[in-house]
Amino acid sequence: MRFAGFQKTSLIDYPDRVASVLFTAGCNLRCPYCHNGELVKGYAGPFHEEEAIIESLLERKRYVDFVVVTGGEPTLDPELPAFLERLRGLGFKVKLDTNGLKPDALRECMPFLDYIAMDVKTSLENYASLGTEDTDSIMESINIIKDGELDYEFRCTAVPGFVETETVQKMGEMVRGAKKFVFQQYKPEKTLDPEYNEVKPHSEETIRGFARVMDDYVDKVVLRV
Ligand code: SF4
Repeated sequence: MRFAGFQKTSLIDYPDRVASVLFTAGCNLRCPYCHNGELVKGYAGPFHEEEAIIESLLERKRYVDFVVVTGGEPTLDPELPAFLERLRGLGFKVKLDTNGLKPDALRECMPFLDYIAMDVKTSLENYASLGTEDTDSIMESINIIKDGELDYEFRCTAVPGFVETETVQKMGEMVRGAKKFVFQQYKPEKTLDPEYNEVKPHSEETIRGFARVMDDYVDKVVLRV
């Protein structure tokens, strides 16, 4: 497996842990507000090869033994489960970030994970505006995660238009009974659709209101605003 990016140390990508972060190229969505456009659209390199990544991770394992695999969309790479198994075999704790569009791949990865973060981006009918009609897969992934044994979070970037009070109610129905839902603030920068650079983020107060709505559906709501 190979990676488009490698961040040796992050304080924000694994809950309460210092982690290394690996970025895969390519995505099966086209969120207009995405700020990873260079990864999503035809990334042609340079790449970090698996052996070099593993060597670097092992050199620093005494200090950082948590690894996050993110994207793009990591589950698009058929080599992902084997790579996660390898990380686990070397003693790392592993988190996967996913948009949930590949439930079969997610199932294959789960035995080698310690934590999953899945995006729940908006209501099901709005997913067409993000580039997919395949909402069955989104719901299948939500249910796999909810019914599984792994620690997890569903998370949502509060993008105006895609996330409003009425949308949050529908998202609450999608994840009803989940352990944890996270709202994070939208930062308009380097967006895939340049118009989204001009979108003013919701106020913190508005996002707190979303959290109160979601609180009726899940055990715990976390704000990263
Ligand atoms: S925001 Fe995430 S899911 Fe959406 S296009 Fe960007 S990388 Fe893909």
